Amino acid sequence: MCGIRIERKKHKDKKSPMKILIATPEATPYVKTGGLADVTGALPKEYRRMNHQPSLVLPLYRQIRKHFTLTDTGHRVNVPMGGRGAIGRVFSHGPSAYFLECDEFFDRGDLYGTPDGDYPDNAARFVFFARAALEACIALGLEPDVIHCNDWQTGLLPLYMKTLYHNGLFSRTATIITIHNLGYQGLFDMSHFPLTGFPAEWFNPEGIEFYGKINFLKAGLVASDVITTVSSTYAKEILTPEYGYGLDGLLRKRESVIHGIVNGIDTDEWDPLRDTFIPAPYGVRDLSGKTVCKNELIKECSLSPYDKDTPLLSFVGRLSAQKGLDVFIEAADDIIAAGVKVIILGKGDEEIQNNVLSLARKHRGRIFVKIGYDEAFAHRVYAGSDLFVMPSRYEPCGLGQLIAMRYGTIPVARRTGGLQDTIADYKPLRGYGTGFLFDDSKASSLTDALGRALCAYVDKQRWGKIVSQAMVQDFSWERSAKEYIALYDDAIKRKRGL
Ligand code: ADP
Repeated sequence: MCGIRIERKKHKDKKSPMKILIATPEATPYVKTGGLADVTGALPKEYRRMNHQPSLVLPLYRQIRKHFTLTDTGHRVNVPMGGRGAIGRVFSHGPSAYFLECDEFFDRGDLYGTPDGDYPDNAARFVFFARAALEACIALGLEPDVIHCNDWQTGLLPLYMKTLYHNGLFSRTATIITIHNLGYQGLFDMSHFPLTGFPAEWFNPEGIEFYGKINFLKAGLVASDVITTVSSTYAKEILTPEYGYGLDGLLRKRESVIHGIVNGIDTDEWDPLRDTFIPAPYGVRDLSGKTVCKNELIKECSLSPYDKDTPLLSFVGRLSAQKGLDVFIEAADDIIAAGVKVIILGKGDEEIQNNVLSLARKHRGRIFVKIGYDEAFAHRVYAGSDLFVMPSRYEPCGLGQLIAMRYGTIPVARRTGGLQDTIADYKPLRGYGTGFLFDDSKASSLTDALGRALCAYVDKQRWGKIVSQAMVQDFSWERSAKEYIALYDDAIKRKRGL
């Protein structure tokens, strides 16, 4: 299975290129449902610029096959799955992206489930993916210095490396797992345990067991050399019962290996000066294009063309309880009464979808809602809005606010996780700030913060200053990529006793 011996190579110093394998269920440009895909898509580019050798491994979903021409590497992997073997083929795209094909698991309409619920065989699908990723490394002769796992879908991988695969190819490979959202853990009935191939005695609270179930993310958190999450504040929040989703005890035990590294954004893709999706480009020195974008967006969404000077507030994101749309919905009448126009783009929870749609019916011409995932429209919304609302109950990092600020669209957000770390709450006396923060998940707290924003908005000079302060923030990946490399380097040295 994994008996290949490798020549012992010394990881010499920080400057020698590192072989980094990023195992992930999503990555741009291949497939994306959330911010995780932006992270795993951006890091390899940055690592290449730094002369490291990154590669990616993903499941070969139908959605990828549809849009990319892939090459069959000729390698096959055979994954034991509780009494039978699942065969996968290894495809590649470019020099360093690998895709694991197994149509019984990944040739589906969606990534993880339908609006009716998760696919019932998600445990089997991601047992296959974790183990096939290691088998593919062996087949391809990849000898990663570090494997960087992401979220529960890759949680079993570090545990496999510590156990069934601890000899041979991976004996010198460090592991790191990034929590992009602790709310999703990959919890399955214990009847799926035999699929993992782990001996029965490993089903215990020190490992994969979680209150009688199996927990894929927990396996990764127990077994990884390093744990990261996507902002410093979230790294502290997950140690508390309020944000820990039952894993805070384990995380407190592993606190010494937990690090928060804030996400960046792809500043080539998200650049109002070069964005081909928006009707008029603009930059911090000349914002006239932004006014064109706003007027076009108002037309496109059939919002009231009158009182053009009133602010346009938008939301782009998943319609899930996490994002706090219920708080916005409760505040909506007051927000509209204050003369604000609203655009909501998102999809997700059916009840929230219905609630925002009925708001739009109630405030026709004032609130526009588009249910769906629409990259091009998202660009136009970021560019054409004045304000961007994020009332999140928790937010590991959040990309929406970073993109919004780069487009001079000022966030009004709850002070939590990455929102707290990336938005400077506006202080009128100092004249500095890049957004407006509020503390409680209450409609009145949101409207208070929005009220402060509207006071600033009517003073064009003051508003212009806030907009330029937001637009010049550096949210590029460079700094975060360097922090990841330093962590990898440290983990590799510790793994190798250097
Ligand atoms: P999360 O990962 O929790 O979904 P983030 O704020 O970290 O939230 O990232 C969301 C990313 O997905 C952003 O780039 C946002 O613009 C994009 N996005 C979310 N929903 C939509 C949608 N309906 N249409 C287009 N883009 C979307």
